[in-house]
Amino acid sequence: MKDVRIKTAIKNPKPHTKLNGANGLKKENNNKFDYLKDYVEGKFQDRYPLKDFLTSWIEYNHLKDFKISDNVESVGGISEEAHFIMRVVTEYHITQAFKAMKIDLKDPNVGGPKGTPYRMTKMYCGNSLEDDTELLSGRWSNRPHMASFPNEQGQKYPITKRVDIVSVCSHHVAPFSTLFREDAYAVISYIPDQMVLGISKLQRIVDWVARRGHLQENLTKMIYDEVSIAAETASVYVKLHGLVHTCESVRGTQSSEGSFTSEYYGGDFENYQLRKEIITR
Ligand SMILES: [Zn+2]
Repeated sequence: MKDVRIKTAIKNPKPHTKLNGANGLKKENNNKFDYLKDYVEGKFQDRYPLKDFLTSWIEYNHLKDFKISDNVESVGGISEEAHFIMRVVTEYHITQAFKAMKIDLKDPNVGGPKGTPYRMTKMYCGNSLEDDTELLSGRWSNRPHMASFPNEQGQKYPITKRVDIVSVCSHHVAPFSTLFREDAYAVISYIPDQMVLGISKLQRIVDWVARRGHLQENLTKMIYDEVSIAAETASVYVKLHGLVHTCESVRGTQSSEGSFTSEYYGGDFENYQLRKEIITR
């Protein structure tokens, strides 16, 4: 009797370990990883029949995480192929999230080969590194070229442009914009020093910076920094006036009154009178 009891006690831990221990879990994870890798490889080879999948797969998996308000250039950039892999992986995980939320993927308005997970992926990642029209495409798209020219006329008065802002808050990934209220606006002004900017490109630079996840005040400073670097002067003024944040207006407190105003300036724009002139212009 004694022997049997001891034997049982020794026997028991073994199957127990096998079922719930680290090995069992690791195996399951590996299978999941292999499945995803195979799934992505299939899509990759359809799209790029002549490219080596493993090279791009390794590139994607080694890409470091970077802030929601930054562009991929902050971690060394990404190839078109690795960006494609990211979109396939993202679409896969959004599909899984829909399943977790019990959203019926057989609904033709949601499921299908280019269904809602695909559309959401496009909205967050853009469809290529050239795509700069999506909500988070500024994280991935190439930096637009901002032309600048020598200030031959010695121009010394402010050059001012109104732009549209479309951005998402980093807390909810919900849009905030100048487009939701009559009286909202964004204005950028700079006083040329040695260089004059090709100002038609200003909206593209603003889009490239804004179409990421932001706090409005940080976005304001980021726009200031970009213009300041491009124009090679600290005398830059950025004001975002009356932007509606949909995370506040359509959910949570559902305030229709709330709007946010922020500004950032340097150089000659330390002068209040000068800033006032820009806004009333
Ligand atoms: Zn928010």
